[in-house]
Amino acid sequence: MSIADRLRAEIEARRDDLVALTQDLIRTPTLNPPGANYREICDYLDRRLRASGFATELVRATGAPGDSDRYPRWNIVARKSGARAGPCVHFNSHIDVVEAGYGWTVDPFGGLLREGRIYGRGACDMKGGLAASIVAAEAFIAVLPDFAGAIEISGTADEESGGFGGVAYLAERGWFDPARVQHVIIPEPLNKDRICLGHRGVWWAEIETKGEIAHGSMPFLGDCAVRHMGAVIAEMEARLFPALAQKRTEMPVVPEGARQSTLNINSIHGGAPEPPEDDTGLPSPCVPDRCRMVIDRRFLIEEDIAEVEAEIRELLETLREGRPGFDYDIREMHRVLPTMTRRDAPVVGAVARAVRAVFDREAEYVVSPGTYDQKHIDRIGRLKNCIAYGPGILDLAHKPDEWVGVEDMMQSATVMSLALHDLLTEGTRP
Ligand SMILES: [Zn+2]
Repeated sequence: MSIADRLRAEIEARRDDLVALTQDLIRTPTLNPPGANYREICDYLDRRLRASGFATELVRATGAPGDSDRYPRWNIVARKSGARAGPCVHFNSHIDVVEAGYGWTVDPFGGLLREGRIYGRGACDMKGGLAASIVAAEAFIAVLPDFAGAIEISGTADEESGGFGGVAYLAERGWFDPARVQHVIIPEPLNKDRICLGHRGVWWAEIETKGEIAHGSMPFLGDCAVRHMGAVIAEMEARLFPALAQKRTEMPVVPEGARQSTLNINSIHGGAPEPPEDDTGLPSPCVPDRCRMVIDRRFLIEEDIAEVEAEIRELLETLREGRPGFDYDIREMHRVLPTMTRRDAPVVGAVARAVRAVFDREAEYVVSPGTYDQKHIDRIGRLKNCIAYGPGILDLAHKPDEWVGVEDMMQSATVMSLALHDLLTEGTRP
């Protein structure tokens, strides 16, 4: 039997274990916010990975945004060294999930298995991917215990809220230093036959328009900040949105609609605050003197972040010059540069060969419309040899009745184990 066939057989023998592991992970509700049960899931992973021969370390991101004694930001990094020197392949999964939201027909934390699908919040994003990577590593170690190099598996906090208490914290402390980790695979749900090379950039800002408060019956005595914000939106509609639609990228972003610059208006708040639900009174009549908008601009590798920022500032300056009484503030909230790993990077080649071996077709190369923890590995860790590859359908992430397919996880785990074989046992490619 070839090594590839032995790896396939080892993974096949672990089918029930892969299902049970995924269910256990889903049944630990690691909701973020607030960042619940990180310690519980890390303890679970700790027991599992130590039993498989990994050395483990639990790291609390003390002082990171969101970290508190009530909701500590725990992370786990597990390492299994081979029989001789060689590169380290690191699988990084986030352990947090977003809120369940409405519309579920099954228990979001029940881990129901039905007709080959496991349901639950985080099933595809990304506890299924985490489980697949663990089983892939265990199967690989069983077949090739004398492999070269090392395998690492991390479960990290807070990806859904920026990753500052997770991968960013670890990267700042050298965990993703290219001297100790050479290949990174992030099993986000990009689909079992796709290799995700990176993501678009992000620029978040808050724009505030200013007005003057007055009695609502005499609005001419004040200046309505909400109307000024209306002018900002009108200007966006007339000039900015059409201009963004013209900016196309060579990045293979999926879905196709994201292969351009985009802007979302996340929120607008102006005037009197929303009354509490049990309030039965009427609002008082005032002209709003402040209005705030949060924008979420996603940009392309071909764009410079300074230009992205300047584009918005110019729009606001045009209004200041042309519109009586218009005044504003703008504040940057968050920025992430776009990143894209080269197609000839070693980890890309290894996973591409493994996808070809499992599916008998070429891998599809994609780029994610939104960011994920690759940003920290790239920017803080300075490690460029990083991709996202994992089971599950991205469109199901954050939706009600989220699920991951058992067969998809099995095939992904096979791809991961073949990639490990490719990267950690030179000269014996399947
Ligand atoms: Zn995710």
